[in-house]
Amino acid sequence: MFGLSPKAPVAPRDYTACSGCSLCFLVCPMWRSSRDPRFTPEGLAKALQCGATASQLAEVIDACSLCGACDPVCPEGIDLTGMIMDLRRETGDRPGLSPISREPQPAGALLLPGVDLRANPELLARVGALLGFASAGDDGADIALALEVGGDIPSARRRRFLDSLDGRTLVVGDGLLLAALRRWLPAARLQSVGEALSNLTALRRRLASADFYVIEPRAYHADHERLVTHYDRLRAETGCAMNLDLQRIAIPATDEAEVSWMLRGRKPARIVVENPADRAAFENVRDVPVLHIAELAEA
Ligand code: SF4
Ligand code: SF4
Repeated sequence: MFGLSPKAPVAPRDYTACSGCSLCFLVCPMWRSSRDPRFTPEGLAKALQCGATASQLAEVIDACSLCGACDPVCPEGIDLTGMIMDLRRETGDRPGLSPISREPQPAGALLLPGVDLRANPELLARVGALLGFASAGDDGADIALALEVGGDIPSARRRRFLDSLDGRTLVVGDGLLLAALRRWLPAARLQSVGEALSNLTALRRRLASADFYVIEPRAYHADHERLVTHYDRLRAETGCAMNLDLQRIAIPATDEAEVSWMLRGRKPARIVVENPADRAAFENVRDVPVLHIAELAEA
């Protein structure tokens, strides 16, 4: 399942490198919903160049879904989601990690399900059985939440978590945590739940040309260059449509407007999601079955 050779990391650039090309407008759901240039990665970068503080930008940085779509399109190689997460950490009182009890990690390859998959134990059991991976006792859900809201991650807690993953093959349900693990454990064998499941022949065979397949954007954009090839192959093999725009950026299901936009002109027989949290938005917009990819095994 894992034939990944980690690329040598390229040092990301910061907001000072923004040239004002506006390419990030095209892919940003904040821009699509607001049509306000302040609510764009460029708006944030330019405001920072002009000396704005994090608290002055709080409304914009809270509106960002951290979908990661802006990162692969920025020609200057700015780590835009990293910039926004840093700004979140700078603003106001963000919750730190609350102590939670953590079971010891089982041996071997690990599934780090994350909050959305854990909320559905039946689906989680199905994903674990399909992949043959044990679920982690500590899946870093508190760290994922801190990344999302800009909370503090004490270095001792992060070290303990990373030590428990050392040398393991990991499948990660939370896209933001997966992106962070790519930075923190550059040599680790890592995949998203969506990529790992869509690699299984038994599931690929059950995807059909009438399906609309919804990629989880955060994990996809964090490893865009490699995953473009993976999903292009899946699309060519199965004929299904996907939530990809012309630049192969994944459109996030942040709200019903985004979902309606990505389905415009399409009449899928089924919608297949990688992220269980995306299910509700599609069910509200279309009266067709919405399945998690793991449920294809029984469909
Ligand atoms: S992460 Fe998504 S919502 Fe946030 S600025 Fe980038 S494209 Fe816009
Ligand atoms: S794509 Fe990058 S360089 Fe261009 S405006 Fe957006 S942040 Fe600036």
